[in-house]
Amino acid sequence: MIKLSKRLEAMEESATLAMSRISRELKAQGKDIISLSLGEPDFHTPGFIKQAAVEAMEQNYTTYTPVSGYDDLREAISMKFRRDNNLSYGKDQIVVSTGAKQSIANVVLSCIDPGDEVIIPAPYWVSYVEIVKVSEGVPVIIEAGIDTDFKITAAQLEAAVTPKSKMIIFSTPCNPTGSVYSKEELAALAQVIAKYPHIVVIADEIYEHINFAGKHASLAQFPEVYEQVVTVNGVSKAWAMTGWRLGYVGAPKAIADACNKIQGQFTSGTCSITQRASIAAMKADPSVLKDMITAFKGRRDLVLAALNDMPGVKTNVPQGAFYVFPDISSFFGKSYNGTTIHTAEDLCLYLLSEALVALVTGEAFGDPNCIRISYAASEETLSKAMARVKEALAKLN
Ligand code: PMP
Ligand code: GLU
Repeated sequence: MIKLSKRLEAMEESATLAMSRISRELKAQGKDIISLSLGEPDFHTPGFIKQAAVEAMEQNYTTYTPVSGYDDLREAISMKFRRDNNLSYGKDQIVVSTGAKQSIANVVLSCIDPGDEVIIPAPYWVSYVEIVKVSEGVPVIIEAGIDTDFKITAAQLEAAVTPKSKMIIFSTPCNPTGSVYSKEELAALAQVIAKYPHIVVIADEIYEHINFAGKHASLAQFPEVYEQVVTVNGVSKAWAMTGWRLGYVGAPKAIADACNKIQGQFTSGTCSITQRASIAAMKADPSVLKDMITAFKGRRDLVLAALNDMPGVKTNVPQGAFYVFPDISSFFGKSYNGTTIHTAEDLCLYLLSEALVALVTGEAFGDPNCIRISYAASEETLSKAMARVKEALAKLN
C-alpha cells in the first residue's frame, strides 16, 4: 500500500484548475457549460511573439538553457523593470522560471523553514497558502472584507507581525478581487515592513498591465524596503501566454541565487523557445496592450452592471485583473428544488447544475462569503452567463 507524504496530504488541489477540469468534463458530456472559472485571457498570443518563437526553432534554440534564463532575456527583463516600474534589477537579480507559479514556489522554498509564519492578506490567490503549507510554513491570514475594497491597512499588517514572521505574500492588482493598491497605500505598508528587515515580501504583480485605475505601483519602488521585496511577474496574463509557461522574479541577489539553486535541481531553465519569444514580449511597448485593456474594462462594466441588478449580490468595483468577487452570503439558508445553499461552494455547485455556469468558490481564496467570476470571455458569453446566473439565483428562496 503506497503511503503519500504528509506534506502532500496537507495540500489542497488547486480550486481554479479543479473547476476548469470539471467544466471540461461536463462539456465533453455534451453539456452547454459556460466556464468563467479560469483566470486565462481569451485573446491569442500576439503574432510578433509567435513569430519570434518560429524563428527560435528555425535557429535551433532547442537545447538546455541556462538555469536562470538566457542572458539577453534577463537583460530585456531588467530593461522592462526600469521602463515600466522604475525598478533597478541587474541581470544577476533576475531568475526566469516555468511560470510565475514556480517563481513564487522557488522564493517560498528558498526562505521558509518549518514553523516560519507567512502573512497572507485574504482574499488571496489560491496557490499562496498551499505553496506555504508544502514548504512547512504557517500561513497567517489577515482578513480584508468587501467593505475595505478587500485591501489591508498598515495597522492590520503591523498587528499580524510576530517574532516568527518571515514573509508576506500579496498581489496587486489582486486575484481574486481586482483590487489595486495605490502608491500611497503601498507607502504605508512599506513603513511597517521596513521596521522588520528580516521579513521578505513577495509582491505578485502579474496583472500589472491590466489596471483601470491608472499607473501600476510597485512595492519595491520604496528604497526602505527594496532589499526585502521580491517582485514577481510573468508573460501569462498581459501577453496571453498562459500555455507558454514563463514567469520571473526581480529579487535581492541572495534570494535570486537561492531560486537558481532550487530550480537547477527541480526543473532547470524553462523552455528555450518560450524564452526567445518572451524577449519579444519584454521589448514590446506596453501601449500595444491598450485595446485588450479597454476590452477588459468593458467586460468588467458589463458584469458589474449585471451583478448589481441581482438582488442579494454585493460587489466592490475591481480596478484591475479580470475578476469580480461578489459577496453572495445573503443566499445562505435559501433553497430551490430540495437543494439548500449553506456555503459559497454549495452556491457554485448549484450554479453549475442549474445555470450551467462554472465559477470558483471564495473559500479557496480565503473568503467564504464570496465567489469568483473570471470575465476573460467575450461580451456575448458574459451576457449569456449573467442572464443564466440571475435566473438561477432568483429561484432561491
Ligand atoms: N499569481 C497570480 C495572482 C495568478 O493569478 C497566477 C495565475 N496564473 C499566477 C501567479 C501564476 O501565473 P503563471 O501562469 O505565470 O504561472
Ligand atoms: N491563475 C489563474 C486563476 O487563478 C489560472 C489558474 C491557476 O494557475 O491556478 O484562475
